[in-house]
Amino acid sequence: MAEEVRIGVYICHCGFNIAGTVDVKAVAEYAKTLPNVVVSRDYLFMCSEPGQDLIREDIKKYKLNRIVVAACSPSMHEPTFRSVLESAGLNKYLFEMANIREHCSWVHSDKELATEKAKDLVRMAVAKARLLEPLEEKEIETSRNILVVGGGVAGMRAALELAHYGFEVYLIEKSPTLGGKAALVGYVEDDVKGSEIVGKMIKLISKNPRIHVFTNSELVEFKGFPGNFIAKIRVNPRYVNEKCTLCGDCIPACPVEVSNEYEFGLDKRKAIFYPYKGAYPPYYVIDSKVCTFCGECVKTCKHNAIDLEMKPQYLDLRIGALIIAAGYDPYEPPKGEYNYGIHNNVITLFQLERLLDPNGPTKGNLIIGGKVPRRIVFIQCVGSRNTTPNSKPYCSRMCCLTAIRNAIRIKEMYPDTDVIILYKDIMTYASDERLYEEAGKRLVKFLKFEEPPKVTITEEGLYIDVYEYTIQDEVRIPTDLVVLSTGMVPRHDLNELIAVTRVSCGGDGFLRELHLKLAPVESPTKGVYLAGAVTGPKNIMESIRMGSAAAVKAMTLLSAGKVSIEPLTAVVNEEICSGCGVCVSVCPYEAISIKEMDGDRLAHVEEALCMGCGTCTAACPSGAMQQRGFKDTQIKAQVLAVFGGG
Ligand code: SF4
Ligand code: SF4
Ligand code: SF4
Ligand code: SF4
Repeated sequence: MAEEVRIGVYICHCGFNIAGTVDVKAVAEYAKTLPNVVVSRDYLFMCSEPGQDLIREDIKKYKLNRIVVAACSPSMHEPTFRSVLESAGLNKYLFEMANIREHCSWVHSDKELATEKAKDLVRMAVAKARLLEPLEEKEIETSRNILVVGGGVAGMRAALELAHYGFEVYLIEKSPTLGGKAALVGYVEDDVKGSEIVGKMIKLISKNPRIHVFTNSELVEFKGFPGNFIAKIRVNPRYVNEKCTLCGDCIPACPVEVSNEYEFGLDKRKAIFYPYKGAYPPYYVIDSKVCTFCGECVKTCKHNAIDLEMKPQYLDLRIGALIIAAGYDPYEPPKGEYNYGIHNNVITLFQLERLLDPNGPTKGNLIIGGKVPRRIVFIQCVGSRNTTPNSKPYCSRMCCLTAIRNAIRIKEMYPDTDVIILYKDIMTYASDERLYEEAGKRLVKFLKFEEPPKVTITEEGLYIDVYEYTIQDEVRIPTDLVVLSTGMVPRHDLNELIAVTRVSCGGDGFLRELHLKLAPVESPTKGVYLAGAVTGPKNIMESIRMGSAAAVKAMTLLSAGKVSIEPLTAVVNEEICSGCGVCVSVCPYEAISIKEMDGDRLAHVEEALCMGCGTCTAACPSGAMQQRGFKDTQIKAQVLAVFGGG
C-alpha cells in the first residue's frame, strides 16, 4: 500500500521582511485547507534554532513525511532546512521551499495581492511536495591537489595555508611574476609596505616543496565536479631560463622600447625585461607581444639564458578544488578626464605611489618637471561613485586611505608643500580613522565637493575649479601636481576566466560570491572559491584574510577524502530512450554519452559530471530524460496548481 503523504507547512515572517507585506497568518490558515497538509504554522524566523526545533518536533508528533517552508530564497536556507529533516530522520530531499520573500514581499507593495500570491506559491510547493521522492547521495573520492589562480597576496596566502596543512598546491599567475599589485603599491600598516609582505610570502613559497609555481600561465580548460576537477594549464614561453643571472647585458641590445606597466606608464622598458626588483621567479622575461625576435639579446647573453625557440607547454592537472584570486585592474582614466594623458602633471594615485617608492623610477623623490611641487591637489573618487560618465557606481574602498597616507608622507618629506584633498566623502574606517586626524594635524587641507572639480590648463599652469560644499562658494586653486585618486575595476580579461570556469559575475563586473555575508569566499559552483579583489575592491589586509578563508573552505571540502554528490541529476528512462543523441549535443558539461546496450543505443548520464542544469530534459524529444527532484510530473503539478489545481 502506498505511504500516506503527510505534509507540514511553515510560513516565515522573516521579521518584518515578509510579514510587512504578506499576511502570513492568513497564508498559514490557507495552507491548512490544502490536500495532505496535516499541520501549518507561521513563525517569526523559521531559520532560527527555535524555528528549526518547531519543524523537528512536528515531524515526530504528526508523523510528517514531506515539509514545505515558505520563506526566503532556497539559495539561502534550503541547506539549513534540509539538515533539519535529516536530523529528524527524514530523507532531506522530501523538502520543498516556496520563496515568498525575494519573489513576493520584496517586489510587491499591495498587501492583499501579495498575500494572494504567497498563497499561490505555497499551493504550488505543496502540489510538488506531494510527489517528491526520497533521493540518495553518492560519495566519491577526492583529490588533495588544489589549484590557485592568481599570484597576488590573496592567492599566495591561500597557497601557503594549504601547503601548511599538507595539500599539494599549483599556483598559477598570468603575468611573469608573483606579487600582484601589492608588490607595487599600498601599505598593510603605517610602516609596512605591501611589497615587504609580498617579499616575505615569495621567500616562503620559493622554499615550499608543496607549492608548484607557474608564472606566464593561464587556466584554459576546467571541467569535472567538486573533489575531482580536471584543469588544463597553458604555460606560455618565457624565452629566458633559470641560467639568467639578472646581469642586464641584454637590455642595451634590445631595440624595442615600450611603456612600463609595472611603473604605470611612468617610464619605459625593453621587450626583454625584469619586472621589478624582487620579482619572482628571478629571471628576465621576453614580452612576446612586442618582441620582433631579432635575436640581438641572444648574441649578448654570456650565460645562454635566452631561448627564442621555447614553445607553450600544457599541463593537465587533477584537482579537488579551485581558488580564484585573480585580482583587479586599476581604473585608467580616459585621455582628457581631468586632463589626464594631456598634461604630464596630472597623474594617478598608482603613479604617485611609484614615484614615492625608493625602488620606483625617481628613487622615491617627488620631482615633477625638475622640482618639488609647491602644491599638490588630490581629487578623490576618480572612476568610482558615479563622479564622471566613465566611472563605476561603487566605492573603491582603498583610495581615501591611500590618498591620506600619501599626503602625510609628502608632508613628512616636504613640509613646505601644500597638500589639499578634494573629496566627495572621506571613508577611513576602523582604526585608520586616526590617519585622517593625523593629516589634519599636519595641515593637509580637506575641501568637499558635490559636483566633480574641473582641471584647467593655462599658460601659467594648472588650476582646479571646485564648488566647495561647506562654504558654498566657487574656489580656484592653482597647483603644480594633480593626483587622481583612481579606484579598482574588474580585470580587463576576467571574462576569459569566467568563460572557462563558468563562475558568475555581478552587475559591477566583479566575480560574485555565493552570499556576501553567509558565504563570502564561496562561488555558486561547489569546489570553486574566491579570494581578494576579484570579488570587488579590497585592501591588502582584506585580500590576505580572504586568501586564508578560501583555503580553509577548500580544505574543509577535501579533508575527508570524499565528497557527497547531490542526487538532483538527470536520469534516463531506458525504456523510452531512442538514442537520438539530442541530449548529448546540448549538455554544457559533457555529462552524457551514447552507449550500445544489447544492440540498442541508449543515453548514459555520468552522474558525477551532471550539474543538474536541466538542459537535456528540456531538449529530449521523447521525455526519456528526466531530472531527479524536477521530474515532468512534479513540475506539471506545480503548474496546474497555479491555476487552482492541487
Ligand atoms: Fe528570513 Fe529566510 Fe530566515 Fe525566514 S528563513 S527568517 S525568510 S532568512
Ligand atoms: Fe629584444 Fe626580442 Fe630582439 Fe631580444 S629578440 S633583442 S627581446 S626584440
Ligand atoms: Fe534518449 Fe532523449 Fe537523449 Fe534522445 S534526447 S538520446 S531520447 S535521452
Ligand atoms: Fe548535462 Fe542534463 Fe546534467 Fe544539465 S542536467 S548537466 S544537460 S546531463
